[in-house]
Amino acid sequence: MSEELLRTPFPERAGAALQDAFLQEALTIATTKFIDLRKEAFAGFPAGEALRDRARAIKEATLQHLDVHLERLADNVERLGGTVHWAATGEEAREIVLRLCRDRGVRMAVKSKSMATEEIDLNEALEHAGVTPVETDLGEYIIQLAHEKPSHIIAPAIHKTKGQVAELFSRELRGQFPADPEVLTGVARKALREKFLQADMGITGANFAVADTGTVVLVTNEGNGRMVTSLPRIHVALMGIEKVIPSMSDLVVFLAILARSATGQKLSSYTTLVRGPRRAGELEGPEEFHLILLDNGRARQIASTLREALYCLRCGACLNVCPVYRQIGGHAYGYTYPGPIGILLTAMLKGNRSVRELAHASSLCGACKDVCPVRIDIPRMLIELREHLDREKIAPWTERVVFRAFRRLLLSPTAFRLSARAGRLLQRPFVRQGRLRGLPLLFGRWTRTRDLPPVAARTFRERWKELR
Ligand code: SF4
Repeated sequence: MSEELLRTPFPERAGAALQDAFLQEALTIATTKFIDLRKEAFAGFPAGEALRDRARAIKEATLQHLDVHLERLADNVERLGGTVHWAATGEEAREIVLRLCRDRGVRMAVKSKSMATEEIDLNEALEHAGVTPVETDLGEYIIQLAHEKPSHIIAPAIHKTKGQVAELFSRELRGQFPADPEVLTGVARKALREKFLQADMGITGANFAVADTGTVVLVTNEGNGRMVTSLPRIHVALMGIEKVIPSMSDLVVFLAILARSATGQKLSSYTTLVRGPRRAGELEGPEEFHLILLDNGRARQIASTLREALYCLRCGACLNVCPVYRQIGGHAYGYTYPGPIGILLTAMLKGNRSVRELAHASSLCGACKDVCPVRIDIPRMLIELREHLDREKIAPWTERVVFRAFRRLLLSPTAFRLSARAGRLLQRPFVRQGRLRGLPLLFGRWTRTRDLPPVAARTFRERWKELR
């Protein structure tokens, strides 16, 4: 994300998002639809809960021997004629792609949706090197035309209304297009067809990579992934090292819950299994296949409190239910990965200091954990992250002082009783219709958009003591 955006404090970014009526409309429509579709999909799928447990267990077992699975994956990809590259950082991954472009005279690269390429700012690097990147997923294509970044893990243009997309297409593609999704999709399809034929390189991410067979798996809905992997002469897949899974039978477990969690589908429209480059006698497929295994800070998290974030399938379900994301959308978070899981992934990839403010952008309501297909305990990790910020003195000193005082108060029954009494007295002018509203000073920020239950009435024991 741009340095400029990050210079604006998070409360201001969030405030601006709350004032944006178009954003509010687009977010409400899209996230509500995703929530309903997911609910329906799991309601009619009794095996779903057990599969979620199974998927979680597979992820945990894989992490315990990640090195072994990655080595096996690399061996099998190379046995099938592919080339495997190891990238310790985003910079190394970019350099690998740029070197391939230079050595093979690539001028244009078509891309299928990939958060890993967003994570390493690949498009900017390609443009800088004189290679034209063309996003071919409809949502990604929209935001590329708008010179923006994705605002949702699976629906990058979720923040745009159809009217805004019609305006954008009319301006950028020179035409007069109505705000009709079918027409707009047709316009994008027509513009993209020639690009698939012109491009020398196709770049994708990977939803999974199967160690036993060397298979890279892409889960898409638009069919563009298949064009990207089969039409250009070179296919480069970039994946985070945590995406490896041991076997094809494990893949079946993940496929059964991924699309249901993401879009409410039983299966996504296209599940593409890539097994190396085109072989002798085959009519289709790339001449070269390269798999880049990206660490970029992941391996060091295996032994950290953020370990569970490495289970993430990038389905986006936790974003849709998060009361914070639903109000402010993805851009206000300021980094590649938004939403509750995005806070953890940002801390993982960019360090704890980067989430100094974001660590508090969660109500800890637990909705994210409830919908996560691999039951990642996001609220627990957010609390632990806040604790780290405090311990590492990254949190502002005012916050540290307040929480330390609060801790003392909770640990001392006398201090707690006294403060409860003081609270009951002081709250009186602000209790309206049984709720605390319009608190003054610092507390006013809390009650500006919501109310609080008042401090409870005296307990029987307290009253008894007072009578004596
Ligand atoms: S944390 Fe869970 S719900 Fe959120 S994107 Fe990852 S897999 Fe999906």
